[in-house]
Amino acid sequence: MPGGGEMVIIFLVLLLLFGASRLPKLARSMGQASKEFKTGLKEGYTPEEIEGPCPFCEVKVPAEAKFCPGCGKSAEDIVAEKSRKSA
Ligand SMILES: [Zn+2]
Repeated sequence: MPGGGEMVIIFLVLLLLFGASRLPKLARSMGQASKEFKTGLKEGYTPEEIEGPCPFCEVKVPAEAKFCPGCGKSAEDIVAEKSRKSA
């Protein structure tokens, strides 16, 4: 991470490159990009829902479970196996 002095230099360089009038617009678009980046990260971490019984042991798995209560397979394995079977 750049320190305070480096931030000032970066700011001055940006000021020279884009001009003072364009900086607020640039800052806004940068803020928007980082907001969208965070939203994307959040969506990436949404756990996959398990629907119906486990494809390995046919035991009913709760949707928010991380492991099958019957065979101990992980939710990722169950989702992968389900999509493999339905394909
Ligand atoms: Zn199972």
